Amino acid sequence: MNLSEFDLIESYFKRDTTVQNSGVALGIGDDCALLDIPEGYQLAVSTDSLVCGVHFFEDVEPYRLGYKALAVNLSDLAAMGALPKWVSLAITLPNGAMVNNNQNWLAEFTRGFFALADKFGVLLVGGDTTKGPLSITLSVKGIVPRGLALQRNKANEGDMICVSNHIGNGALGLAVKSKAVTVTHPQYFVDALELTEPRVDLGILLRGLASSCIDISDGLTQDLTHILKASNCCAKITIESLPFSEMMQDEIKSAKLDNDAAVQYALTGGDDYELLFTVSESNLIVLEQILAQQTELMPSISVIGSITSAQPELISFFKDKQAVTYATGGWDHFKQE
Ligand code: ADP
Ligand code: MG
Repeated sequence: MNLSEFDLIESYFKRDTTVQNSGVALGIGDDCALLDIPEGYQLAVSTDSLVCGVHFFEDVEPYRLGYKALAVNLSDLAAMGALPKWVSLAITLPNGAMVNNNQNWLAEFTRGFFALADKFGVLLVGGDTTKGPLSITLSVKGIVPRGLALQRNKANEGDMICVSNHIGNGALGLAVKSKAVTVTHPQYFVDALELTEPRVDLGILLRGLASSCIDISDGLTQDLTHILKASNCCAKITIESLPFSEMMQDEIKSAKLDNDAAVQYALTGGDDYELLFTVSESNLIVLEQILAQQTELMPSISVIGSITSAQPELISFFKDKQAVTYATGGWDHFKQE
């Protein structure tokens, strides 16, 4: 069966958007969608592309690709403290095979995409469907009360630096997939890489409490550097407080993974999509009290260091109170090897 562009849109992308309080005055089918933003809110908009061979392996399960494409976009909204509302999807599909001979691919892709969209009540309101090398670009839109968005430029000297959940799992998952390492629990790390959990609820909770926030997509040190440069300050990180998952600790204990390699994954690996934020000591107490009552909904948070005034190094590392050095790079598409 040969489906036209419009058949594809009708079959796979168009769903009912006349949901109560959706804010969708007009959804898929016209030249533009029309969206209502509630009084007193600002629109938070973010776009991310996933390109085959760069952001994902050609043989990735389409369910996981659809899921992750949305997850990384929702993570950006989470990092701003925005409530996700709408998304548009520009998808370029290779010649024939994926859609016409094997419709399962698109069915599975949209199943993964809508599984996460439904979880967060996000509605697909438009997009573009073209033929070419497989690539996916999403633009998510969220709302945040005016003036309460979490920016990168408001960290203060003396603030604590925190991260959510665990770090390093995504990078180890990538190393497992690229066959760079062999570990005892490979699927756990691959799942961490491919089934990322966007920290939307935590981001919303951080409104008015955190002084700055970013999501860790390109590696902890690189993403922290964005906060430090924007806020014109420096940071102290204590290596032993980096939160490794139990599985990661298990790999270290069983000598499948060197402790320093785990630290390096955590610092420069990326693909964790945890929130990295700064918070004053007094607000941290408030935050911890709230989190103590909501453990089921929220990820854990760990204090990994503090914001300092200008120092020779943008980030100084300490291990058992001794100054240590670590490579501080991260992912950069345009960096020369
Ligand atoms: P136009 O030519 O006016 O840009 P299109 O023919 O590309 O419109 O798309 C028709 C409608 O379908 C539009 O409302 C568009 O937003 C929507 N659409 C197209 N592709 C997708 C997609 N992949 N996901 C969601 N909506 C889509
Ligand atoms: Mg178009």
